[in-house]
Amino acid sequence: MKVKVAVNGYGTIGKRVADAVTSQPDMTLVGVAKTRPSFEARRAAERGYAMYVAGGGTEADFTAAGLAVAGTVDDLIAAADVVVDCTPDKVGRENGKKYQAAGVRAIFQGGEKSDVAEVSFNALANYDRARDRRTVRVVSCNTTGLARAASVIAPHWGVESWEATIVRRAADPGETDRGPINGIMPTFHLPSHHGPDVQTIVPGLAITTTAVVVPTTLMHVHVNHVRLSRPPTDAAQLLARFRSTPRFHIFAPWEHVDGTPQVMEFARDRPTGRPDMMENVLWEAGTRVEGSDLYFFQAIHQESIVVPENIDAIRAMFGLAPDGPASIAMTDRALGIPHP
Ligand code: NAD
Repeated sequence: MKVKVAVNGYGTIGKRVADAVTSQPDMTLVGVAKTRPSFEARRAAERGYAMYVAGGGTEADFTAAGLAVAGTVDDLIAAADVVVDCTPDKVGRENGKKYQAAGVRAIFQGGEKSDVAEVSFNALANYDRARDRRTVRVVSCNTTGLARAASVIAPHWGVESWEATIVRRAADPGETDRGPINGIMPTFHLPSHHGPDVQTIVPGLAITTTAVVVPTTLMHVHVNHVRLSRPPTDAAQLLARFRSTPRFHIFAPWEHVDGTPQVMEFARDRPTGRPDMMENVLWEAGTRVEGSDLYFFQAIHQESIVVPENIDAIRAMFGLAPDGPASIAMTDRALGIPHP
């Protein structure tokens, strides 16, 4: 029996999660919920996804646009084993009451505070904690990137302290109402919320974070300085470990990937379903060990990095895979993410 998955909120994350679910052998998409007709609703209809009306939308709006409606979001919830809530920040928490009343399991996104769910989740770092849970929160894009890196670095070399500066993209490519379009905006919440959020996944990790917002839509970049308690002799050992871990992509100097524009061009050239980059992106030239100090940059494609994590969260909740590595391998094979 395949697990029946509903996606509530069909925007940047929701449409990717819906596509990802349809590519997995052990789960099926029962439908998606949208508030209003749009080009994305049209694509959902073309892909054959059953469409349900949510969040104050009306069936009449959809039918006027020539889009068939299968019911309301309550009908969708009733048909599902699990709802992946991909609505905007704070809406997920409100929706949680509906899921609880319906007795359906739920996955929330990183825009919600951690107490929205029983556990916060990252597949590499704490897959087993989501086993058999009724509610799980997949952490945000930045937290996912840091938690993945921590799950490689901390067990092998020990973290005495970690300072990360998060250079944040101002908006997703489709968001024309966000900025800045010219400026570098410090986040005056010091340290930023990302550090404590990483600790919901890797408890006790000595990480502090700060953030600035810059006028780009492509990716975030993390500037990391980690003091290691058992440092490797050189960066090559560290890079070898990253290379042999799923969901990391390392660029060599000869590839001439100078920054996020080339990373996303690389993603567009890949023969995967979407021009996305679901791995943490590191550079050989951007990783250096000096004594106990590790310096590295990593780029994070905010629109897609959490997509495989949502799939693994479903598998953990329903016991569909023997362990995290098995689930990650299944997910990545189905999504076309190269697996080491
Ligand atoms: P989005 O705005 O692109 O998509 C949200 C969708 O939900 C929209 O289509 C909106 O119309 C719809 N919606 C609004 N109210 C609704 C309701 N009551 N019921 C059903 N649908 C409703 O947002 P997003 O970027 O996909 O973010 C979704 C969640 O994922 C947030 O928690 C966010 O913090 C998190 N997240 C976003 C990113 C990112 O960079 N975009 C990365 C990681 C995590």
